[in-house]
Amino acid sequence: MRAETNRMGFLAIVVAGGKGSRVGPGQAKQWRLLAGRPVLAWSARALLEAGASRLVVVVPAGDEALAAQALVGLENWTTTPGGATRAQSVMAGLAVLADQPADSIVLVHDAARPLVRGEHVEGLITALDGADGALPALPIADTLKRGEAGIVAATVSREGLWRAQTPQAFRLGPLRAAYAAWPRSAGEPTDDAAVTEAAGGKVALVPGDPALMKLTYPEDFAMAERLAAPAAPTMRIGQGFDAHRFGPGDHVWLCGVRIPHDRTLIGHSDADAGLHALTDALLGAIGEGDIGDHFPPSDPQWKGADSGVFLRHAAGLVRARGGRIANVDVTLICERPKVKPHRQAMRARLADLLDLPLDRVSVKATTTEAMGFTGREEGLAAQAVAAVEMGG
Ligand code: MG
Repeated sequence: MRAETNRMGFLAIVVAGGKGSRVGPGQAKQWRLLAGRPVLAWSARALLEAGASRLVVVVPAGDEALAAQALVGLENWTTTPGGATRAQSVMAGLAVLADQPADSIVLVHDAARPLVRGEHVEGLITALDGADGALPALPIADTLKRGEAGIVAATVSREGLWRAQTPQAFRLGPLRAAYAAWPRSAGEPTDDAAVTEAAGGKVALVPGDPALMKLTYPEDFAMAERLAAPAAPTMRIGQGFDAHRFGPGDHVWLCGVRIPHDRTLIGHSDADAGLHALTDALLGAIGEGDIGDHFPPSDPQWKGADSGVFLRHAAGLVRARGGRIANVDVTLICERPKVKPHRQAMRARLADLLDLPLDRVSVKATTTEAMGFTGREEGLAAQAVAAVEMGG
C-alpha cells in the first residue's frame, strides 16, 4: 500500500493559521513542542513521508520564519499567508496549487492534529476512488445533550453522528470549485467536507483514529505526548552475592576464566562465584527468583557444570521479558588468586556470554585486608550489579 501511495502521489495543504488562545498563554499551538518537535513538524513530516509531492503550509502572515524553523530538514514545502478564517486559509493554499492538474488528489489537514500517519493517508486515498471526498471520522460514544443556560433542554440521539477529523481528501479542481460556490449566507464552513457536501459532492467516511485528536486545550498536549512518544524505557536494577569455600585443587573458575591456583573452589557446579553473583543480579532485575530456583543443586545434571550456562539462561530470560541489559558490574573479593592479570579476559568472556559490548561489562577486585573469611582465605566472594532497560 505504501508503494502505491508513493506512486500515486498527492498534494497537501496544512492549515497552521490558528492563534489557538484556548491552549493557554504563549506561542500559538502549531509552534509549540510536542515530544521535542514543533507541532507543525509532526504532520508535515508524516504527509511528506506518505508521498505528498508538494506541501503548502498556510501560516499567519509574519510567521513564515517560525514555519521555516519548524520545517527544517524537510523538502517540497512552501508557505503562504492565511486569511481571517479557516476557509480563507484553505483557499489561499489552493491558490498556491493553481498550476497543478485539476484531477490531482489534495489532502487538507489541520496542523493542530499532529499525529497523522501513512495508514491514514492510504485509507483516504483509497476511499476517494468511489467518492468526491473522504474524511476520517469516529463514532460518538457519549450521550449527547442539548443544554440551555446550564440545564438540559433535550437528549439528542447520537444515531448516525460522527466526529469529523482531518486530513480530508478531495480532487483539486472540484474542491476549488466547491469553495468558489460556497454560499456566504451559509456562514463559515468548519471543514472542507462541508464545502464539498454543499456543492453536491459525495463524501466517504473512513475509520478515524483517536490519535488524530485536535490539540485544543492545555491538557491535550499531555495526552498527545503519550500517543506520540512510546513509553520511556524504565531501568531495573538487580544485585547478586555469592561465596564459595576453598578446597584442595589446582585451579579456580572466575567470571568464566580458568585461573591456575594452589587450591580450588568447592561447589556443585564449577563454583564460579563471579558468574553466580551476576546470574542472580540479572534474575533479580526481572524478579525471576535466584539461581537455585532455576538450577537446583539437587539436580545431578548441574554437577560440575560450566556456570556460563546459568548466565546465558538468565540473559535469555531478560530478553524474553522484553529487557535489554544496559551494563553489568562484578566485584570479586579475595586475597588470592590475584585477579588483575585476568580482568580483561573475564570482561571479554562476560561480554561474549551476555552478547554485550565490552564497555558495558566491568570486573573489579578487592581484598578485605586480611579480615574475615576472604581475608583468611577460607573462601572467595563475589558481588554483582546488573542494570536492565525494560520497554520503550
Ligand atoms: Mg554459587
